[in-house]
Amino acid sequence: MLGLYIHIPFCLKKCSYCDFYSIINLAEVDDFVKALRKEIEFASERLALDKVETIFLGGGTPSILEPRYLEIIVNSIDKSFDLSYLTEFTIECNPGSDFLKNLSFYKSIGVNRISIGVQSLISEELEFLGRVHSVGEALLSIETALQHFDNVSVDILFSIPNQNASNLEKTLDLLGNYDLKHISAYSLIYEEGTRLYLDLVSKKIEPLSEKEDYALYKLIYNKLTDAGFNQYEVSNYAKNGYEAKHNLMYWRRDNYIGFGPSAHSFINNKRWWNYRGLKQYFEHINDGKLPIEGEEDLTFEQRLTETIMLGLRSEGIIFKKFDLEFNTDLKSFGYDLFELWVSLGLANFTQDGICLTNDGYFVADKLTLELLEKLEQILEDRKICI
Ligand code: SF4
Repeated sequence: MLGLYIHIPFCLKKCSYCDFYSIINLAEVDDFVKALRKEIEFASERLALDKVETIFLGGGTPSILEPRYLEIIVNSIDKSFDLSYLTEFTIECNPGSDFLKNLSFYKSIGVNRISIGVQSLISEELEFLGRVHSVGEALLSIETALQHFDNVSVDILFSIPNQNASNLEKTLDLLGNYDLKHISAYSLIYEEGTRLYLDLVSKKIEPLSEKEDYALYKLIYNKLTDAGFNQYEVSNYAKNGYEAKHNLMYWRRDNYIGFGPSAHSFINNKRWWNYRGLKQYFEHINDGKLPIEGEEDLTFEQRLTETIMLGLRSEGIIFKKFDLEFNTDLKSFGYDLFELWVSLGLANFTQDGICLTNDGYFVADKLTLELLEKLEQILEDRKICI
């Protein structure tokens, strides 16, 4: 089974915190869709591809595309892949991108999940983030999407400078008025190369402290779990049965292929990634080549590190599966550490493995390092190099 990710690299405006590859020159949409169609065809001719379980149209702002373009993309996926096992088809939509009139069309091409980039329901915060939409447009987007789709997800950001508990609570309370099935809540990151990063280094803005970040993280957890959501990854909450299948494929290290500039693919422990800029992307496609910038076969160490990191950040690590892949005995190797985590309230033993708690998720990176260090010692003693 395979996940398909399609990167649509166009936005109406660049947000202040965004380091995804996206441009605001919509004049290139037509050429892009033609190139994307070719890329999908090339890949299906050259790779032994599997049945597709999930499709994710992300970006950028996929909801910028007119229906005729989406039709071309979906037809070419349909021609190139076996979609008879498709269970989830998501499109990312941004309020302000005029997509509400296209919701019935989305349904007609097989979309069954809408992910809306709301980010905040406080006007000042939206302005700070450089979002193109207003609070009213965000609410209208949610309301209208829910009239067409049962499975609607919303993205929000927290730890925005000057944000306090009551602002965040207001956003969460407003969201609580809708029958959302999934909410992603990301702590704001100051990525190098973004406008926000420049403001940070020039001290124009002050980030929240780790203590403040933790308080807001806990507020989200408490409000959302009270409202019937389960946290199933550091930043992701879902009602029962509405976990994002596509994202679960990433975290479980299942196979996926990405199309479009900057998209990454991962098949059987081999990873490759496309050129980020449209210029090189177009050049390669026009030369009849896949627009691949780099590739790597994951080493034993990379596979082990990623399995631990992604497992701890999401559903946990299943001991039997881990031992089978890495010829270890993780439960015995890590037992003291796992017991310590459990005693500190950072993890729980499950029926078949170990899974972090909400507090554990907050320090998942630190716990990953602790476990890797522990494993390194033991494997070194056994003369197994990781
Ligand atoms: S809408 Fe999304 S992809 Fe586009 S600039 Fe803003 S954060 Fe980046």
